[in-house]
Amino acid sequence: MNVTVPALLDPLADMAGLLERQRAAFLNDGPPSLGERKKWLKRLRDVVLAHRSALGEAVSADFGHRSRHETEIMELVGVVQSIDYLTRNLRRFMRCERRHVDLFYRSGRAYVHYQPKGVIGVMAPWNYPISLTLIPLATALAAGNRAMLKPSELTPRTSELMQRMLASVFPAEEVAVVLGGPQVGAAFSALPFDHLLFTGSTPVGRKIMQAASDNLVPVTLELGGKSPAIVAQGHVNDRTIGSLVFGKLSNSGQTCVAPDYALVHENDVETFVERFGAAVARAYPAGPTGDDYTSIVNDRHYERLKGLIDDARRLGARVIETGALPETAIARPRTLAPTLVVGATDDMAVMQEEIFGPILPVRTYRTIDDVIEYVNARARPLALYYFGERDADCASLLARTTSGNVGINNTMIHVAQDDLLFGGVGPSGMGAYHGIEGFRAMSHAKGVFEQGRWALPSLLRAPFGRLAELALR
Ligand code: NAD
Repeated sequence: MNVTVPALLDPLADMAGLLERQRAAFLNDGPPSLGERKKWLKRLRDVVLAHRSALGEAVSADFGHRSRHETEIMELVGVVQSIDYLTRNLRRFMRCERRHVDLFYRSGRAYVHYQPKGVIGVMAPWNYPISLTLIPLATALAAGNRAMLKPSELTPRTSELMQRMLASVFPAEEVAVVLGGPQVGAAFSALPFDHLLFTGSTPVGRKIMQAASDNLVPVTLELGGKSPAIVAQGHVNDRTIGSLVFGKLSNSGQTCVAPDYALVHENDVETFVERFGAAVARAYPAGPTGDDYTSIVNDRHYERLKGLIDDARRLGARVIETGALPETAIARPRTLAPTLVVGATDDMAVMQEEIFGPILPVRTYRTIDDVIEYVNARARPLALYYFGERDADCASLLARTTSGNVGINNTMIHVAQDDLLFGGVGPSGMGAYHGIEGFRAMSHAKGVFEQGRWALPSLLRAPFGRLAELALR
């Protein structure tokens, strides 16, 4: 489909005008009905499916290589499932919610009315450029809003394609895509939206919240961090390792909820190393040159990741590359082999910054209390994974640590649960979306009290009677 976008020639100059147009259209048209919202969602679903292969090709070209299947499973399926979930549940979500009425006011009605906020700003990162742009969009539309999107400049082909694709089915007064890098991002985040959902790194998230605060724009921040995977003693089995390999190597570890590092019981480390290599070989039989293995997005990140490995090696870690080939043998750009860093210590950069690549540091522990202490001494993570029985250790870990989400005997699958909220806490984020929480984050919850036909409230007014005596007994 060839669509000319009524381009924002100068995004910096035109963004405020675009927001005004969307807001004027929102006020003029009034809140969309259930049927209109469903039509928006269907339009989004259809246009995504119509661009299925083009989206896969654009992402692959942006990354250097990412298989069409990975893009479909990790992104398009998620977008379509979210749209279907929202469509199925929208009537229920939109319903006013009755609240309890106090005795004195009994013939009245109290309820919460969820109304669209207006215009939602969405800022997205590069690592899942389609789903992290379009799932927030679907949520904004389901909640009856207009939306302005600012995808990442690091995946330019995908971002431009999404701009053209969405312009082919939505007028700019409903949905518009603004392209650009940090400078455009900074101006975008300073716009007086009715809500801003930002997905990206913690340092940039901080700037976004600062910019939004000037206009008192409420924010949902979906940020990153180091998500630990804890393996209980005796639980280094195929199920555990297979799940860790899936979490660490999907998109070559360039995933916000990837298990960042593993905490393995000191008696289990050798088994862990052995089984990890075998599981990688099973999942990626052609090694890092196979079609299912994704490239690192750009040279900067590739060099950064190689630097993490060099630093760990220099500081005494045992570095084990799985299926590594000499660089000259790899035709594809920026292919980094799955790498275990055994004996990682806290002075290593790999244990200090979010890795965002196919490197898994392994640290050992003795007791679950060590683990709890270690996790709690660090920034609250986006996800925490536990592999083991649902026993007292597991209960203690869950009760005494705080993370955005938790996965038990799996990694990352919580994100695919449409009815489950998804978000971080502290440096890994603020607020949540997915589930009813996403709809509510993008709705204004308006408390309404409707006076009944007969009412005691007259007793509350002067001339005052003896109501207080009754109430304060
Ligand atoms: P990033 O913070 O660099 O960029 C995110 C967005 O902000 C992009 O649109 C970018 O153009 C814009 N931006 C960059 N610098 C800016 C600035 N100075 N001012 C205003 N806007 C700016 O993040 P990234 O590198 O694209 O993505 C990786 C990070 O995102 C990782 O930390 C990862 O954990 C996190 N992430 C979180 C989630 C989640 O759902 N919690 C999902 C994916 C990625």
